[in-house]
Amino acid sequence: MQLRYSYRVYPTPGQQASLARAFGCARVVYNDALAARMEAFEKGERISDAELSKRLTASKATPQRAWLSEVSSVVLQQALADLNTAYRNFFASITGKRKGARMGLPGFRSRRDTRQAIRFTKNSRFTVTSGGALRLPKIGDVKVGWSRELPSAPSSVTLIKDAAGRYFASFVVAVDEQPLPSVDAEVGIDLGLATFAVMSDGKTIDSPKFLRQAERRLRKAQQALSRKAKGSKNRAKARLKVARAHARVADTRRDWAHKNTTRIIRENQAIFVENLSVKGLARTRMAKSVHDAGWSMFTTMLEEKAARYGRRFGKVDRWFPSTRMCSHCGVIGDKKPLHVREWTCGCGTTHDRDVNAAMNILAAGRAERRNACRAGVRPQRIRPGGQLV
Ligand SMILES: [Zn+2]
Repeated sequence: MQLRYSYRVYPTPGQQASLARAFGCARVVYNDALAARMEAFEKGERISDAELSKRLTASKATPQRAWLSEVSSVVLQQALADLNTAYRNFFASITGKRKGARMGLPGFRSRRDTRQAIRFTKNSRFTVTSGGALRLPKIGDVKVGWSRELPSAPSSVTLIKDAAGRYFASFVVAVDEQPLPSVDAEVGIDLGLATFAVMSDGKTIDSPKFLRQAERRLRKAQQALSRKAKGSKNRAKARLKVARAHARVADTRRDWAHKNTTRIIRENQAIFVENLSVKGLARTRMAKSVHDAGWSMFTTMLEEKAARYGRRFGKVDRWFPSTRMCSHCGVIGDKKPLHVREWTCGCGTTHDRDVNAAMNILAAGRAERRNACRAGVRPQRIRPGGQLV
């Protein structure tokens, strides 16, 4: 299976200028090709990937686009490949060949996009030097903060500049699956606001204090930003502050989530979570964005690690009142206001509100798996290869 390994990189001011040029060139190539595709589409024609590639080569010979030769041609070809993938995904989505949310038509890239990225494949001959620098064609030797070792030779590397002005190298590496010894335990997980996660075996995971503090700082920065006049210098400064606070929250949350998801994967053979789109809607937009980001990172990690370590992961898609339903007898009780932490069902079973919800998720996950087995197909939500992109 393929995994991404990301590291912070520290380009010199000169290398930053070269990268800015490469980002710009990749953007132009992408936008030119998108315009060509749209024009062809309006005429009822389709334009092939090979044709676009040929046009790119030809455009380099024109005075208007001669400067494209200043960056690695692999970077430009990869920008084209991105567009081609986006188009294929879009068509697969509208024809129903691709599962999940409908994809929109790809849009033009802008220099104001919060994330700028270029990709180097093996063909470009990028290397990691013996001194530990990342050698990129027409950029130079870029300093890397190696937070962990690369498990094998990477097949490609994406250079990213984020909204906070930080640079990252994201390597794609092939990793062997490493099935863990199997265990009997299976678990359902209820993700919540008060407690981050409650599991059907009664264990809970609380959001750590340092994370809540970082989130509070982020909210403050967002409020400050909303008070600044549009287009002002102060607004630009405030925006950078928000981006930095965002980055800090994301980093902290990632480390913490890695620790917790690894433990869950080790301890359980099957892991079921509720599909996040059915989670409560009565939340403010800000709380929603903060929590959703945390939840989706958490479930994505669980899914990836399950694939890698030979565990089963399932999302419970079907909506059901996980809080109100008795996990013992299946009777659906009255609505339970948030302050009701414990309740007793007519059958005599007393429930912790969240543990009961988690047990229902576990039961629903098992039921979906049984149905899928009976129908002779795998549950859709479980990606067999665990391929990550
Ligand atoms: Zn009951």
